[in-house]
Amino acid sequence: MKVDSSSTRQLTLPITGMTCANCAATVERALCRTEGVAGASVNYATERAIVELSEGGATLEDLSIAVERVGYGVLQADPDELHDVEAAARQRELENQTRKFWVGVGFAGPLFILSMARDFGVLGSWASAHWVYWLMFVLASPVQVYVGWDYYVGGWKALRAGSANMDVLVALGSTVAYVYSVVVVVMLTAGSTLAGEHVYFETAALIITLIKLGKLLEVRAKGETSEAIRELIGLQPDTARVVRQGVEYDIPISDVVVGDVLLVRPGERIPVDGEVVDGLSSIDESMLTGESMPVEKGPGDVVVGATINKSGAFHFRATRVGADTALAQVIRLVQEVQGSKAPIQRLADRVSGVFVPIVIVVAVLTFVVWWAVVGADFSVALVRLVAVLVIACPCALGLATPTAVMVGTGRGARLGILFRSSEALQRARQLGTVVFDKTGTLTRGEPEIRTVITLDSDEAELLRFAGSAELMSEHPLGEAVLREARRRSLNLTKPDSFRAIPGQGVQAMVGGAEVLVGNQVLMENRDIDLAALESAMESIVAGADTPLWVVIDGEVKGILGAADILKEGSADAVRDLRNRGLNVIMLTGDQNATAEAIASSIGIHEVRAEVLPHQKRDVVGELQVDHVVAMVGDGINDAPALAQADIGIAIGTGTDVAIEAADVTLMGGDPRSVVTALALSRATMRTIEQNLFWAFFYNVVLIPVAAGALYSVTFLPMMLRSLHPILAALAMALSSVTVVGNSLRLRRADLR
Ligand code: ADP
Ligand code: MG
Repeated sequence: MKVDSSSTRQLTLPITGMTCANCAATVERALCRTEGVAGASVNYATERAIVELSEGGATLEDLSIAVERVGYGVLQADPDELHDVEAAARQRELENQTRKFWVGVGFAGPLFILSMARDFGVLGSWASAHWVYWLMFVLASPVQVYVGWDYYVGGWKALRAGSANMDVLVALGSTVAYVYSVVVVVMLTAGSTLAGEHVYFETAALIITLIKLGKLLEVRAKGETSEAIRELIGLQPDTARVVRQGVEYDIPISDVVVGDVLLVRPGERIPVDGEVVDGLSSIDESMLTGESMPVEKGPGDVVVGATINKSGAFHFRATRVGADTALAQVIRLVQEVQGSKAPIQRLADRVSGVFVPIVIVVAVLTFVVWWAVVGADFSVALVRLVAVLVIACPCALGLATPTAVMVGTGRGARLGILFRSSEALQRARQLGTVVFDKTGTLTRGEPEIRTVITLDSDEAELLRFAGSAELMSEHPLGEAVLREARRRSLNLTKPDSFRAIPGQGVQAMVGGAEVLVGNQVLMENRDIDLAALESAMESIVAGADTPLWVVIDGEVKGILGAADILKEGSADAVRDLRNRGLNVIMLTGDQNATAEAIASSIGIHEVRAEVLPHQKRDVVGELQVDHVVAMVGDGINDAPALAQADIGIAIGTGTDVAIEAADVTLMGGDPRSVVTALALSRATMRTIEQNLFWAFFYNVVLIPVAAGALYSVTFLPMMLRSLHPILAALAMALSSVTVVGNSLRLRRADLR
């Protein structure tokens, strides 16, 4: 979900009391109906609502009231404490559910043993005495009322809000078995066998207890799916050592303000983002970039909060604190994605929305067919009805997608791969073409001037002009020229006028002379005669370097050769992508011959060179006609192309999270992460599909079995021919656990 933050505002609300995906749908509808709300998305797995407010906007109170009216709650907490408050609430819920489960076991266990022993006739004649019936009633009732209470409450809430959820099914199923049994006992006591002699107390009690077990395991596993976020939050140190007026103080991290000078000693975590003032150190940034090699930092370098200072001590000035730090952004981003809905989930939501009413109809039909058509006993028909109700709880369906998305994106965050939308996760598998930007993506983006060729053999003069012209340029090539001029201690003059010509070069007035520095295209546009240095250019290009023409007052004076070192992982990344059957293309504004030379050295066969920045987007658009296209760029001048691509992958640098235009941000600079990101999204999608398969399998395939459709298939075991409701409840509990467990496997999935 991409939202323009200028016109709308987004709120994230923690929702309490949801027991299944239908609850989430109910809350979502309630929020959407509220005045001042442009849209809402409620995620059952994260238990959060993302609300988009329209102009004027609803207040938090309006929203809380809307949520409470349909029977759920909004957890009130400061944004800072939200996570702790949520964790505490979840912990309480877990304890509460655990207690209920054990109470259920305590009563349903003996009840089950008693009724089994009776059915197998091992107890002798006393077992059919009336008091035994009443004993069973006494054992079943606490389970029905105390342990089963949540289902009544949940079911009632849903019905009142005009929908039906799994609580309705559990409540209905167990109540039918329980109430029928009560009627039997009362009739028997009154001396009548009109209602039959068999009771189903243990069925009711075990349905409730088993499904409670499923819920319990689900709540636990759900807690584990958000482990990555918890880990990220845990990276934030609690205190910082600030230097004020020459005195060092330890202060809480929340008291650090921008501009504070902080001291970091070896082995400590850097508290917030900032810039080194003095000192040298190597810093482990792996928690944010996924890259294990420590990075050397000195005065002027940017340091990122939550990274670990390995060797030296240094002072740095805080530049971003609190919610502005890179870590805070990462956390927010991951939470947003986890809360957003993948398109595939909407389908599951729609299905489970109509599922429950359909199931109730099927259950009633089952009863009618068995009783009235087949002519079975009333109680046999009733057992079929209960089995159908219980087997059809759609809770696994609701968990299938969000749990996989949570585990997948969490794993990504740990590897320095940030997904911005769950849509991107889903699209990644149809991918056909990966387009790489050259400079800064496949190469380090820190070119060096390797060759200086002049017509009149005054290198210093040439570089003085070129360096002065590039003084205001922010382009890596401009900086390379500047660095070379400074290295030679040349005196540069500030240009009187300066113009950057995107994708071509620069034009500047330096001390009365008009200087042009740039590529072939620029020179051709200006009708400059380049013949004098044509062969010099060819030798630069042959060495895979980028030629930069230097022209003064319309005459070519020299040519510079800039070499940009390839990143270590570039060739590997290209090879892995091609092995996966993907088309790899290099896209660059650089000269054709240079681009070709670099491309072939890393195994790329298709190159689009001399492409101006604004044309990159069109090139991506053309490629999209045939393929799903991913664009990998350094995220600054490639922004339009990143936005155009089906999957925009920005290579960030941990600090400058250039995320707005991209679907995926790689916090480190390693192109091999592209392969990992694609593998992760494929693995996540595969998990979602497996989950949906199992959820549908349990829910849909087992319904006819529960209804007794296999009854006449006599070679099957009786267990299947007439599926006992207790087995149905067991299958139900298993289905949610299978799905969540399968999602958790993603934490260790092979991503090569
Ligand atoms: P890329 O697509 O590889 O990131 P750009 O589109 O930014 O490259 O630039 C394309 C070409 O334009 C460069 O290879 C260079 O020849 C020329 N150019 C751009 N900016 C400058 C500059 N400041 N100085 C000299 N040449 C430049
Ligand atoms: Mg670039």
